[in-house]
Amino acid sequence: MKKRIVILGGGESGTGAAILAQAKGFDTFLSDCSTIPDKYKEMLNSRQIHWEEGRHTEELILNADEIIKSPGIPDKAPIIVKIKNEHIPIISEIEFAGRYSTSKMICITGSNGKTTTTMLTYHILQKTGLDVGLAGNVGNSLALQVAESPHEYYVIELSSFQLDNMYNFKADIAILLNITPDHLDRYQYEMQNYVNAKFRIIQNQTEKDAFVFWNDDPIISREIAKRDPKVTLYPFSTDYKPGMKGYTNNNQVIVETSNGKFTMEQDLLALTGTHNLYNSLASGIAAKIIDIRNDKIRESLSDFTGVEHRLEKVLRIRGVDYINDSKATNVNSCWYALQSMNTKTVLILGGTDKGNDYSEIEELVKQKVRALIFLGSDNSKLHSFFDGKIAQIEDARSMEEAVTKAYHLAEKGDTVLLSPCCASFDLFKNYEDRGEQFKVCVRNL
Ligand code: ADP
Repeated sequence: MKKRIVILGGGESGTGAAILAQAKGFDTFLSDCSTIPDKYKEMLNSRQIHWEEGRHTEELILNADEIIKSPGIPDKAPIIVKIKNEHIPIISEIEFAGRYSTSKMICITGSNGKTTTTMLTYHILQKTGLDVGLAGNVGNSLALQVAESPHEYYVIELSSFQLDNMYNFKADIAILLNITPDHLDRYQYEMQNYVNAKFRIIQNQTEKDAFVFWNDDPIISREIAKRDPKVTLYPFSTDYKPGMKGYTNNNQVIVETSNGKFTMEQDLLALTGTHNLYNSLASGIAAKIIDIRNDKIRESLSDFTGVEHRLEKVLRIRGVDYINDSKATNVNSCWYALQSMNTKTVLILGGTDKGNDYSEIEELVKQKVRALIFLGSDNSKLHSFFDGKIAQIEDARSMEEAVTKAYHLAEKGDTVLLSPCCASFDLFKNYEDRGEQFKVCVRNL
């Protein structure tokens, strides 16, 4: 009898997994408890794959030999609890796709900087003319590409939720950018559980594989000392220390691997700010490991146009720069945004608080911020922390109001920065909607 695979979640990754499962001859069924977007229904129908939406029919799910779960479904969802009671193995789409591919996998994780580093690495490989696919949290499903348009290399953004259900998959190059508290609600509020999920990125790696990581992250250093992994280590840091494979010296970015040395002027990097220096070092090391020519790495690191909603320059109006960093949904990413500001700043922040501790940005706010604008349906937590610490504080209930207030508060030579520290769901559909509205309001000034 055919082995039965049931896929939970009919989005990009689930649909891709179903298509690969069907192509490999499994008895395949996809179930989604909400509505499946039309695009994915058409993809499933055209390949005669059975699916349901608006419910999870237990008789059609609990008879599976294996379940592929979308990373968005939490372990406490009732259907997952039942599946676990039946001891049916649960894997992620990336784990499944990895079984059918011998391509080189470059995998990127971290609490912040994943998308930027993924896009930058992809840009370098693509510009070099390599046959490369983009997968994971950004881009198309890995399983779909493995099934229908395989590539020689994949650059894959991995969230902790994807890593959770990965077991035998192996990254040829793993990049771990940083670990700061995030998503703890999905990890029983235990930081170590989240750290363990992130460290799954190096499981199964051997000395032939590469582990690229930020050397100065205390959690990463502690875990490496504890785990003593067998993989070849590629630490990077802003300053040279013995053993660093990526660092800066005298305004030069330097990468050293067994494929030789790469250097370029730091001022020529397309992405600015210390956090982006880390991201550029990580991508540069990965590129050098796969032996991309220095001129190609240099060219790609200097002509990358950045990713929307991440420190994205919008306009300069009357000598004031407007920057959209709507993707800064936690305090740490706002810290890096503020740290990269070279002028006085009017900071727009607020939204759905995820248990934020604003003391992390207090010093930078005091140094750099001319005025704060709180943009949220409930700004009380922000007021209780910042009132009395900054002279000018305003509330706004819409993006238009926030941008108009920022326009009046900013002085020539200042920067207006949207870097909210918070999720967006109180006033916006998502962070993209928040960033788009910001850009529209700025353009209408
Ligand atoms: P992710 O995909 O991990 O959420 P993004 O590349 O989308 O990361 O960036 C999210 C936010 O974090 C942005 O506000 C960005 O400016 C900031 N950021 C980017 N890289 C880093 C880094 N290496 N360390 C800290 N913050 C970063």
